[in-house]
Order: sequence, then structure tokens, then C-alpha cells
Amino acid sequence: MQSEKYNLIFENIYCTDIIINFESDYKMNKKFDYIIVGQGIAGTVLAFSMIKEGLSVLVIDDKTLSSCSKVAAGNFNPVVFKRLVKSWMADELIPFSDKFYKEAEQFLGQEFYWKKEIVKIFAEENEKEFWLNKAKSEDMSHYLSKTITTDFFTAVVNNPIGCAFVTDAANLFVVKFLEDFRNYFNQQQILLDELFDFNLLIIEPNSVSYKEFSAKKIIFCEGYKISDNPYFNWIPFKPAKGEVLIVKIENLPTDKIINKGVYILPIGDDLFIVGTTYDWVNLNDIPTEKARKEISEKLSKVIKVPFEIIDQQAGVRPSVNDRRPVIGLHPESVSVGVFNGMGTKGVMLAPYFSKQFIDFLEHTVPLNKEVNIERFR
Ligand SMILES: Cc1cc2nc3c(=O)[nH]c(=O)nc-3n(C[C@H](O)[C@H](O)[C@H](O)COP(=O)(O)OP(=O)(O)OC[C@H]3O[C@@H](n4cnc5c(N)ncnc54)[C@H](O)[C@@H]3O)c2cc1C
Repeated sequence: MQSEKYNLIFENIYCTDIIINFESDYKMNKKFDYIIVGQGIAGTVLAFSMIKEGLSVLVIDDKTLSSCSKVAAGNFNPVVFKRLVKSWMADELIPFSDKFYKEAEQFLGQEFYWKKEIVKIFAEENEKEFWLNKAKSEDMSHYLSKTITTDFFTAVVNNPIGCAFVTDAANLFVVKFLEDFRNYFNQQQILLDELFDFNLLIIEPNSVSYKEFSAKKIIFCEGYKISDNPYFNWIPFKPAKGEVLIVKIENLPTDKIINKGVYILPIGDDLFIVGTTYDWVNLNDIPTEKARKEISEKLSKVIKVPFEIIDQQAGVRPSVNDRRPVIGLHPESVSVGVFNGMGTKGVMLAPYFSKQFIDFLEHTVPLNKEVNIERFR
């Protein structure tokens, strides 16, 4: 059932022409509470969060531009494997995201979010003892399984030492999430599919206007393309290119994400997203032979069976040195804001911090200092 659904979705991912475009008969409203530039994970989550709060939004996104959300596996991992500690704010972010994405599914009548355990395959004996001790601790017991498994899909998975499971992990099928919302924004006539032109933005103390549209504020969510934004290009971003392979592997489990050097994330019909790589120099979305080799080699150490590479994709993560989101208003133009810096964890961070940003914008509730743009002043 899930496999059939994935199959259909997968066809859609690579046939974007079938997405209906309503732009030809726009009879749009001209006044909005917010204009949002960018419809990656950050812009989409922020737009839906605002809509839920009864706010009106206009989304501007050029779908021909690079978007790292379109290559993100959509993995939610509450555990930092190296030290077996919780990832930043996992206790708050995971339940918030669970609720948010389930609400989004209900709102659109679609499915794109699943709870999925992560299988951690051990490379060395001493890792098991470390895991079991951590699993007993109050802090980590919710996220780490209490036993070691040695018979996990042994015909296909290389698991000589054993493995254990990260519980309360999840997976968002990001491409479907974005396309379902893009269709919704189109139907509501609140999407402009075009390159945002900074020369046409007029900023007033309490409002902005762009072409024939006006709003209280404009919020930029352009991912790593923030480097082209004259209002926010001073923020010290440290973007990182990442690549993934889409591979076909038979007889691997489809309800779990396998991790050992690479993650192997099921997307149905024996297809898996396998990744990822890091490159801080070549900041583009062009797949490389080097990454293909690196991921393939790691994958062949995890599985015992042959695999077929179906596709390869690349994107640039909008990361910041301190690995925290960048949220807030421009120091001189308070009608202009930014919601960015989601780095390697956009799917987990965006829902919680969208709500926090809206509380800040609408009710002057202070932002978490660690994400506040003020930290760069
Ligand atoms: C290989 C890889 C794997 C990843 N896996 C995961 C994962 O498993 N889990 C996870 O949480 N995160 C993952 N990430 C990170 C995740 O992709 C990012 O955190 C997230 O996508 C950032 O989203 P964003 O909306 O800020 O940026 P983007 O996705 O880049 O979106 C920016 C949008 O702005 C638009 N835009 C930019 N400039 C303009 C303009 N001038 N006019 C109009 N439109 C404009 C672009 O078209 C784009 O749609 C991964 C990243 C990579 C590269």
C-alpha cells in the first residue's frame, strides 16, 4: 500500500510538469499580513504556521532555482551518534514536529509524515556497551532501545556485531510535502512563481510593497541564496553542499532507516535515499563523481546485496557557524525579516521556530537568544 503510494509520488517528483499552474487566471488579493520569499522547508512551514494563526500570506518562489529542501531525505534523528547525546532541543522539537506535520497532513488530506525507527549498526564491540549504558540513563532512555539485536535482516544487511534502535525518530517525505503545499498555495492564489526582484521592493516603517502587493512585513526564507539578499548578506553563513543517491535495493526493510556511515532511507518500491556528503567549497547543485563513489563505497559496506543507482541529487544547506537558525528582523528596517539557517535539520527545526517567530512578530514574545539574529550584531 505504502509502496504503491510512494511509486506514484516518485513519478510525480520527476514529472513536475503535471503540477497544475493557476497563475494564468490570477485574481489575487493585493493586501497580505506577510510576504514570504522562498518555498523550501523554511518558507512552507512558516507560511502554513501563519495560515493556522489566521494570518494572510503571499508566497514568492522561483521553482527553477536550487532548493536543498528538494534533496533532503527528511530524516528526524533525535540522537547525536558520536556521543550518544540528544540533538539540540530534541525533547521540545520532536513532539512539536509530530503535531505540526500530522496537522499539515489533515489540512491537505495528504500523507507525507511517518514515525520510523533508526537502526544503528555497530562497527565496534565497545560501542554496544556505551549504547546500553546510555540507554539506561534518564536523559536518553526515551530515545535508545535497551537491547542489542543480532538477527536484523542478516541476509541483506552486514551486521556482524549487532545493532540497536533509535525510537521516536521520524521521516518527512519532503518533496511531496513541498509539492502538496505548492498546489494548495496555487489553488488559493497566494503563490507567485517568479524570481524576487529586490529593485521592486518598497520598504516603509510599518509596511512593505512589492509590485501591486503590500504587507505588514516581508520575510526572507531563501536558503543559501541569502548571499544574494542585500538586507541580510552580512550574516556569517557557512553553507555546505550535500549529495544523495537514489538506489534500488531488494529485500531491505521499508519501515526503518538504517545508519552506518551513511543513512539508507526507504521511499517505497525498493527505492532508498542514501547519503550524505559535505563540501564547503563547491557551492552548487551539480552532482559529482566523487560523491557518487563515496556514498556507493559506504553503502556497499552496509549491505551484502547488489544495488542499482537510479539517480543522484545535490543541494546546498544554509548552515551557520554556530549551527543554529537565524531568525528576526533587520536591525534598521523592522518591516523586513529573515527565517533561515536551518542547516542540516530543517524538517525538525522549522515548525517549532515558525511558531516562536510568529509569537515574536504578532505578540512581541522574545525569541530564543540562540536563534535570534541579534546575536550577530
Ligand atoms: C543532501 C542533503 C540531505 C539533507 N537531509 C536532511 C534530512 O534528512 N533532514 C533534515 O532535517 N534536513 C536535511 N537536509 C537539510 C535541509 O535540506 C535544509 O535544512 C532545508 O532544506 C533548508 O530549507 P530552506 O527552506 O531554508 O532552503 P531551500 O530549500 O534552499 O529553499 C529556499 C527557497 O527559496 C527560493 N528562492 C531563493 N531565492 C529566491 C528569489 N530571489 N526569488 C524567488 N525564490 C527564491 C528557492 O527557489 C527555494 O525554493 C539535507 C540537505 C542536503 C543538501
